[in-house]
Amino acid sequence: MVNCYFCEKKSRESWGGYWCEDCRKIKNILNIYGVEESLAILESVCIRNEEQRKRKINYEKKKIISKNAEKELAESTDLYEKKIQNKKS
Ligand SMILES: [Zn+2]
Repeated sequence: MVNCYFCEKKSRESWGGYWCEDCRKIKNILNIYGVEESLAILESVCIRNEEQRKRKINYEKKKIISKNAEKELAESTDLYEKKIQNKKS
């Protein structure tokens, strides 16, 4: 089967058609909302500019750091409590 003209990845729905099933659905959406509005939606929702990507990366880094800090705090608290228990016994 020949590949879809749009995504160039999936097989076309039929020999006479040009699109795969997914791309035909995308094409139908474009026909309903119009190319300009659909493109504006994709650009505003799906495409992140450099500043937005940096903010997301920093946010994810902070999440990892705070998770590690919580884990280290829990481990050091456990260690401290074990030392106290050992001194009592
Ligand atoms: Zn396709």
